[in-house]
Amino acid sequence: MQITQDTVVLIHYTLTDDAGKTIDSSAGGEPLAYLHGNGNLIPGLERALEGKQAGDSINVKLGPSEGYGEYDESLVQRIPRRLLQGIGNVYVGMQLQAQSEHGSRAVTVTQVQGDMVTIDGNHPLAGQNLNFEVRVEDVRAATEDELAHGHVHGPGGHHHG
Ligand code: ZN
Repeated sequence: MQITQDTVVLIHYTLTDDAGKTIDSSAGGEPLAYLHGNGNLIPGLERALEGKQAGDSINVKLGPSEGYGEYDESLVQRIPRRLLQGIGNVYVGMQLQAQSEHGSRAVTVTQVQGDMVTIDGNHPLAGQNLNFEVRVEDVRAATEDELAHGHVHGPGGHHHG
């Protein structure tokens, strides 16, 4: 069976940066299951998997615009530490939810200097090339429930309690 819209796909993948450092990998664990064509994977990766079948391996290099976006300097802000009152210890690498008129957004603390804290609203992988090595383990038709929910149930997918 080929990977097309609304098929359930099980993949093993390794994601590396341009220096060859592994950012994420399913190796040694359960394969990742996703519902193809429902925005569960980043679009560039879904495009590359279209038409593939179990046993196929692909290598895909995605630029930032096809991955997590270009790095946007305007999402970096220096704010007084007192605005983070009640958060306790603020440290580099800490993830926070920032509230703005556009709703809440995940930000990362990138610098703490005296009374000032730098927060970065870019995705941690923004501005980076993404190098995926993917092996298709299995392809099957989705169930009605899975189509209604827009995600995979069972092994490697979502679990409802
Ligand atoms: Zn569900």
